[in-house]
Amino acid sequence: MSFADALSIAASVRAGDRTATEVLEEHLGRIAERETEIHAFNLVTEQDARATAAAVDAAVAAGNDPGPLAGVPVAIKDNLCTRGVPTTCSSKILEGWRPPYDATVVQRLAAAGAVAVGKTNLDEFAMGSSTENSAFGPTRNPHDTSRVPGGSSGGSAAAVAAGFAPISLGSDTGGSIRQPAALCGVVGVKPTYGLVSRLGLVAFGSSLDQVGPFAHTVADAALVCEVVGGHDAGDSTSIPGDFPAVTEHLSDGVSGLRVGIVTEMMGEGIAPDVAARVRAAAAALAAAGATVEEVSVPAVTFGLSAYYLVAPAEASSNLSRYDGVRFGNRIEAATTGEMMTATRTAGFGDEVKRRIMLGTFVLSAGYFDAFYGTAQKVRTLMRQDFDAAYEQFDVLISPTSPTTAFAIGDKTADPMTMYLNDICTIPTNLAGHAAMSVPFGTGDDGLPVGVQVLAPALGEIPMFRAAAVLEAAALAEGGAK
Ligand code: GLN
Repeated sequence: MSFADALSIAASVRAGDRTATEVLEEHLGRIAERETEIHAFNLVTEQDARATAAAVDAAVAAGNDPGPLAGVPVAIKDNLCTRGVPTTCSSKILEGWRPPYDATVVQRLAAAGAVAVGKTNLDEFAMGSSTENSAFGPTRNPHDTSRVPGGSSGGSAAAVAAGFAPISLGSDTGGSIRQPAALCGVVGVKPTYGLVSRLGLVAFGSSLDQVGPFAHTVADAALVCEVVGGHDAGDSTSIPGDFPAVTEHLSDGVSGLRVGIVTEMMGEGIAPDVAARVRAAAAALAAAGATVEEVSVPAVTFGLSAYYLVAPAEASSNLSRYDGVRFGNRIEAATTGEMMTATRTAGFGDEVKRRIMLGTFVLSAGYFDAFYGTAQKVRTLMRQDFDAAYEQFDVLISPTSPTTAFAIGDKTADPMTMYLNDICTIPTNLAGHAAMSVPFGTGDDGLPVGVQVLAPALGEIPMFRAAAVLEAAALAEGGAK
């Protein structure tokens, strides 16, 4: 599967060689062909998209530049607010809710000339690793529809992989952009905490959540980061200044770059064919002039335990706002308390309830210090271990996901095996750092493998340099086969 990238689409629309309307119709055509099978979207906003594309075409005709993403179709994860357009978080509890405003990232894409084509499916409230926890049914992996696309941003990853849109947005709390990117064979970026505005992102774990792009190419992902990133006065966690100038450094190469392979992410639990691809990636970076060595980051082994205390705790607090009064669905009952219970019982799915109960428990009096407090200390340890590694290395690499895409239904019975999908991605969120997944060949089953490039806070430039070299090496390897 090979589809046009965003940069070339925007270049041809800006030059007047193609119209945004033609580009849109081509993508809507692909959606019409395969969406029933894939279910990437909760909603395709065809009419709005046609109006937006027409406005882009009118701007070009009038001699105005619609922006760096002129006429580029984009799919938006359905936990990002879109004004007047249903935003469901793939949950029944938000049924009927239409946000009165656009998320900052949605506004910025529109201002850059992009054409929003729809809202993509996700695990309910972004809790999951397979998109099977959606109240509206699973999304399927375009490479093999018996497999999951990963999650929670599975719809956004599948939309790009299936050619429904060249770029999409997701959110990443513990790996929800990088893991589905890996499983669907596309690029996915989780920027440094605070670099991309979360105004209008429905909150899950507020100390972990970050918005980022999916794309076919590293260059497209870099451009989307620059477009949506940078300071937003409306988000109190937003870092001052612009997104690092990653697009300018994509062809810098990796000569002299110090790359560490994270020892703890290469052993137990990692499929041998996936580990082999990471070693091949390391060799490609070394061949391009980087120095590559193994490095131990011991505290990452506590990542999963710390995450499943911090994330549910924050989720239980964030999701308390869905009470049948302020948003979406309400199940009527005799008293307010009974109404809230009935609404939440009917509105939330099993995984969301599991997280709310776990989070409420770990925050309760008498347990707070033992659980939440300890998890926060582990986070500090993890940051210290990463800091020590980043004194010696500019970037680190690891698998993104321990395996290639697994079969639908394979892990739904056992939440713990599902949680293990994120062992390599979670530490980045706990540390507040940057990381991205780059497709790097296939596993023994012929399905995509993603290599994760990790960087310290604001280390996006070296991260993208390494990613660009890996992308070129994977292309050369694929071409040689
Ligand atoms: N899979 C992880 C979870 O279920 C991460 C989800 C995410 O990043 N939103 O919490």
